[in-house]
Order: sequence, then structure tokens, then C-alpha cells
Amino acid sequence: MHGFSYKNGSLFCEDVSLSTLADEYGTPLYVYSAGTILDHYKRLNAAMGDIDHEVAYAVKANSNLSVLRLLATHGAGFDIVSGGELFRVIKAGGDPAHCTFAGVGKTRAEIIYALEQGIYSFNVESEEELRYLNDVAGELGVIAPAAVRVNPNVDAKTHKYISTGKSENKFGVDFGVILDLYERASKELKNIKLRGLQMHIGSQLTSIAPFIEAIEKVTPLVRELKARHGIEFWSIGGGIGIIYEQSLQSGSIEWWENQMDDERPLTIERYGKELVPRLHDLGLKILLEPGRYIVGNAGVLLTKCLYEKKGTAKTFKIVDAGMNDLIRPALYEGHHEIVPLVEPANGVRVTVDVVGPICESGDFFCQDRPLADFNPGDLVALMSAGAYGFAMASNYNSRPLPAEILVEGGTATLVRKRQSLDDLIEGEL
Ligand SMILES: *Cc1c(COP(=O)(O)O)cnc(C)c1O
Repeated sequence: MHGFSYKNGSLFCEDVSLSTLADEYGTPLYVYSAGTILDHYKRLNAAMGDIDHEVAYAVKANSNLSVLRLLATHGAGFDIVSGGELFRVIKAGGDPAHCTFAGVGKTRAEIIYALEQGIYSFNVESEEELRYLNDVAGELGVIAPAAVRVNPNVDAKTHKYISTGKSENKFGVDFGVILDLYERASKELKNIKLRGLQMHIGSQLTSIAPFIEAIEKVTPLVRELKARHGIEFWSIGGGIGIIYEQSLQSGSIEWWENQMDDERPLTIERYGKELVPRLHDLGLKILLEPGRYIVGNAGVLLTKCLYEKKGTAKTFKIVDAGMNDLIRPALYEGHHEIVPLVEPANGVRVTVDVVGPICESGDFFCQDRPLADFNPGDLVALMSAGAYGFAMASNYNSRPLPAEILVEGGTATLVRKRQSLDDLIEGEL
């Protein structure tokens, strides 16, 4: 379910017209629906039923302070991957005691900062890192809470760039050596408190099978770690996929009900129904680290068509957003539905490439896709751009970063100003 739909022929976010926002704030423009973010957050909590659990929102998906504050005020914890993300969480009013710190390359400065702030757990990705964490904690005279990330060697069946749970990925510690590592650490690393176990097998998983496979594979290990080392939590990671196609229709219940069973994508209810019974009796706190599921469908990127260029082979619609604003299609063949802000009067489609102004052939939002036609001057929305959208935006080609708006009901708030030209050179000497 999400907060974007046509009302009287024009696309709205909740009760705010997107064309009005584009006129007022310019394009490219990110717009987020607070209602959708909270709806997804609450539905995930509901799907986990009565098991002791906590949602640690993966900040890297969308780290705008207002998005973080919204989730913090509703009790979310946070999964961070850098000192910068911890800084943002604290600025947004989040509680470091509900933060887990993931990532394969934590620096000394980041470790010290996180120890000083009192985070809940360092999710450690190698024995070397665990030893280093122990040393730094020793220097500061504190105990570092830690969990090791297990690599269960499970195929998440997602794009190779966002698969993380196979032996050949750089993430985590091999399944087979975890028990030995915990034994050694508990004997030798006096400044480490082994608090849990963590895993995360990949992103944008659209079937339940890899989640089940990973949980069933790791459960005996988790039981053993609890018995031997008294761990208190198991983080089962994030990775819940979202629908990128037909997202306008899929906002409605009727659309869901009309899907054939095997075409029905992974729903959060299914996720809960399959996983909760498997996790219920472990006596552990279950941590979830969703990013995309919480914010993905909750955001759009508005862009204006500048030119239509008819080549001999193709028709290009050139828009004012580029891969620097939204890199997912260029980076990992990410798909975004593209719809005009004025509802198409008929079902006529033209086959086009929608491309940005950046000097790269990879700068496209779709290729040879049948779309409702639009013309120079018209506004379109790239749907489901709330996750890994603005968060991955850059100044490439010296383009100022777009503005961001958060909509709550009928109220639209500017939550990040568009960068100015002066912002572009700020800090250069
Ligand atoms: C990226 C990441 C997540 C979030 O992944 P989503 O697919 O956005 O849910 C969770 N945990 C870790 C360790 C990650 O690196």
C-alpha cells in the first residue's frame, strides 16, 4: 500500500498534488509519503506478532533527518553503516542504544565514536575486525558489545550486486567457523561482550524461500551460541523486496486480490507467517534491518521532460533528472515505473528511452519501454524511488543535489533544500 494515486486526473502524494510541488520547488524533486513509511513500519511490526523483536531501520536506504525522526518517534531502532549515519541518527533524536553498526570496513575513528555514544551492538564482519574492536575498547577502558555476521552461503536469487550471503561475497564470516570464533573470542577478547549473531543475505528478495533456507540453516548455530555464550539477540537482516512495476495499481487492495497466487510477490504478511513460527521459541530478541521495504514505495522522483529526440533507431525523452539523482537503473539495472503527473486519457503507448542529461551512456531510466506519451514541458514521476535514491545521489557533472519534500496528509514540508551553485564548491580551496 502506498500514498500515491490519481485524483481528478492528477497524481497526488497523500492529499498533496505533485504538480503543485514541482511548480513550487522545481525539478528534479524527491517527494516522500510519511503515511506510507509509517504504514510499512507498522505492518512489519504487526507481522512479527508477539515475538520479542525490534525493527532497526537501515539508514543507508534513505537517511534524510526528517525520515529518521519520523521513525525514531515511532520507536524504531537503526542499523547504521558509518559514523556519519550514527551522527544523523543522533541529530534526528534517535537513541544510540538502539543502533547496530554494520559494515566490513569500520575505521578507528568510527569505532571510538560509536563506543562513546553507547551503541547496542557492533555487527562485526571478520575476526580481524573483532580483535581490533577489542583493542580499541581496551584503550578506552570499555566493553564493546558485538555480534558476528554469519555468511550462511545461501543464494538470495537477486541481482549479483545486491547479493551478500554467498561465500564469494565480501560480507560476513563463513558459517562453518563461527562457533570456533566465539569460543576463542570469549576466552581471549576481554573487552568484547558477545551479544548476538547477525546475518543479511541480500537486498530486494522477492521470494520467501531464501529467508527460510537461511533461518533453518543458522538456527542450530544460534541455539548453540545461546547455550554456550548467552547471546541475547539474532538479527535476521533486511532485504525484503518491494514491487517496482505496476506500483500505482498495486497500491490498491483490488489489484492484490486479482493476482494469481504464484505471481503474488512477497508480502509482509507472508514474511511474518513463514518466519515467526521458526523464530518463536528461540528465546532470543529478533532484530530486523529493513531499508527498502520501509521507504522504497514511499518516495517518487519528479522530473520534467526537456526534449524529445527522434533518432533513426530510437526515440529519446530527455528529462532533467539524471543518474546522479537516481543511480539505481545504471548501477544494478533497477526498474522504476514512469508515469505522467497528468493521468493519461487513454491506453496509448509509445516505445521510448527515458534518459538524463549526464554524459554517460548508462544515464537512462528505461530503454525501449512502452509508456504513456509525454512531451517537452510535461512532468513525470519515477515511482518507488524512496530507497537508494537520494541516498546515492551525487554531484557528478556538477549538478546540485535535488530538494526533498515530506508529505503528511495535506501538508508538504521541505526537508532538504535544493543545493545552490555555491553549495557545489563549498569546501574547495
Ligand atoms: C543494506 C543492508 C540492509 C538493508 O537492506 P534492504 O534490502 O534495504 O532491506 C540491512 N542490513 C545490512 C547489514 C545491510 O547492509
